[in-house]
Amino acid sequence: MDLRDVYKGLPEISTQQKDLVEKLKKSAEEEEISMEEVIRLLVEPEYDATYLHQAADEVRRAHYGREVYTRGLIEFSNFCRNNCLYCGIRRDNRKVERYRLSCEEIVSCADEGYGLGFRTIVLQGGEDGSYSDEDFCRIISGIREHHPDCAVTLSLGERSYESYKKLFQEGADRYLLRHETADKAHYEYLHPAEMSFEHRRESLYQLKEIGYQVGAGMMLGSPGQTPEYLAKDLAFLKELSPDMIGMGPFVPHKDTPFGKEQQGGLTLTLKMLSVIRLLFPYVLLPATTALGTIHPLGREYGLMSGANVVMPNLSPTEVRKLYSLYNNKICTGEESAQCVGCLDLRVKETGYELVSRRGDVRR
Ligand code: SF4
Repeated sequence: MDLRDVYKGLPEISTQQKDLVEKLKKSAEEEEISMEEVIRLLVEPEYDATYLHQAADEVRRAHYGREVYTRGLIEFSNFCRNNCLYCGIRRDNRKVERYRLSCEEIVSCADEGYGLGFRTIVLQGGEDGSYSDEDFCRIISGIREHHPDCAVTLSLGERSYESYKKLFQEGADRYLLRHETADKAHYEYLHPAEMSFEHRRESLYQLKEIGYQVGAGMMLGSPGQTPEYLAKDLAFLKELSPDMIGMGPFVPHKDTPFGKEQQGGLTLTLKMLSVIRLLFPYVLLPATTALGTIHPLGREYGLMSGANVVMPNLSPTEVRKLYSLYNNKICTGEESAQCVGCLDLRVKETGYELVSRRGDVRR
């Protein structure tokens, strides 16, 4: 598999761009680089960015070798009180058939995942108020009791400080909360008025303070996104210094206000993955399902561009299609065991290796 295939027919990287990659490589240690400078590697005109990806790959191998970590994703509910304009399971989408799994069903999905070799379980859902803190505590302690060597990651949206703390004390290790955009006006363009840019950011700092390994991130090519906003995203990530950065292309969902917008591009996503790896050598960086949705080899190319995590789905097959954040999502029909087998082969094709470990951050 060759990343050059992505750039067929495009001009070679310029000497100036190569210099910028070299500068970026040194930036994690010594050299100062402005985020505006970095953005020049990402924006048009298109060029063959293989050199950038190779640089990112070197850094990733120095930190994590050939290892790719798996996270078993349980999408436990598609009810959500929020109305993010880009999201297929937003509150006002009446066409969604809603579901929620019971606490017992969630723990049993985690058990199945453990049997398949997962050592991190991710609980992800819409902001569904019908689960109390006590419910989540039961789920976390259930997983912990059955599998003490397994990490528990939460992706439950915005909650109160007390709630984050309670769940951490119960044994949750990590929390994923994408910041979505570091520009306030852009945040307000993507979200309804009742959602707060400040509260999202504050939550991320609270999670850090409590002791979680924290994940932030954003969509690439989201409606209204500009190079200037991407520079702000990088500056914000530098300031927050998260352990995980989740980034995938924006993929429209037809039953949302952004249903007719253009999807985010493959090359922008791959270049951004490499830039992130160079800026944050230690970071846990998924090759997302959204990336696999916009291109059949998207996740493989993502791994070759600096990503080192994949997140296959452990939810029961009968509800998978219903957790539809965007259109044409892949891997909604297969059994979990099939997904693992398929991913294992795909990862091998790239020259890396799927490993059965917690895969904690290596700072
Ligand atoms: S993005 Fe998350 S918070 Fe927003 S509507 Fe979708 S599930 Fe809810």
